[in-house]
Formats: sequence, C-alpha cells, structure tokens
Amino acid sequence: MTQAELKPIPVPDSDSKPYWEAANRGVFSFQRCRDCGRAQFYSRSLCSHCQSKNLNWESSKGTGKVASFSVVYRAPTAPFAGDVPYVVALIDMDEGFRFMCNVLNCDPASVTIGMPVRVLFEERAGSPQKIPQVEPLK
Ligand SMILES: [Zn+2]
Repeated sequence: MTQAELKPIPVPDSDSKPYWEAANRGVFSFQRCRDCGRAQFYSRSLCSHCQSKNLNWESSKGTGKVASFSVVYRAPTAPFAGDVPYVVALIDMDEGFRFMCNVLNCDPASVTIGMPVRVLFEERAGSPQKIPQVEPLK
C-alpha cells in the first residue's frame, strides 16, 4: 500500500503524547484538573475550565453513552471507501468528558442516542499506533 491508500495516523505533540502512548498500552486516558476537579478531553497544556496548569492524567473505565452521531455514506477520502456506511459519534464518557470517535462492530442503523458503548483500540495498516474507538456495550 502507498501512503495515499492508508488511513491517517495521529501525530502526537507534547500535549497528546501521553494519551497516544497510553492507547498503545490499551489504556484510554484523559486529563483531570487538580484545582477545579473537572475532566477534559482532548489533552491540553491548560485546564479548559479554569486555565490551571495543574493537570493530572487518569485512566478511563472506557464506558459511556452516545450523545450524538452521524452516519457517513460518502467516504471523505479513498482509504475510508471500504468502511461506508460508518458512524461518527460524540460519546459522553462516564468520567464526565465528551469524546469523538467511530462506533465499530455494529450495524450503523442500530446506533441510537443514549446507547451504552465501551472503548476498544483500532489498529490501522501501516502504523503501530492504536486508535481509541468505541463499540456497543453488550
Ligand atoms: Zn481546572
């Protein structure tokens, strides 16, 4: 496969490197502020609620519920053509943050708002980086 035939792979930066390294260990991580106690996602150098730099990494239980979703019928780029139709969803995780991902391992027509899901780690061709996604919680 050429690079143009492969799905995109995350490029970690200094704020996201711990997140991607945890994913490769099978851990879905997020940040929690030590000052205001609130969770945030995606990772940043400052708390998005109170601007504190006093952030801590925590491991999510990996469970949540679909807050909203869309079914993609037309692939945005060639590497996704084999996946349509597929689901892009916003997930409200049990720890109190929202996560955008694909809902895998189900019929897209079966996805509903409020549906319980759990995190899994997708492996993509051409990269050792694991990608957090979700599937229905059975
Ligand atoms: Zn804060």
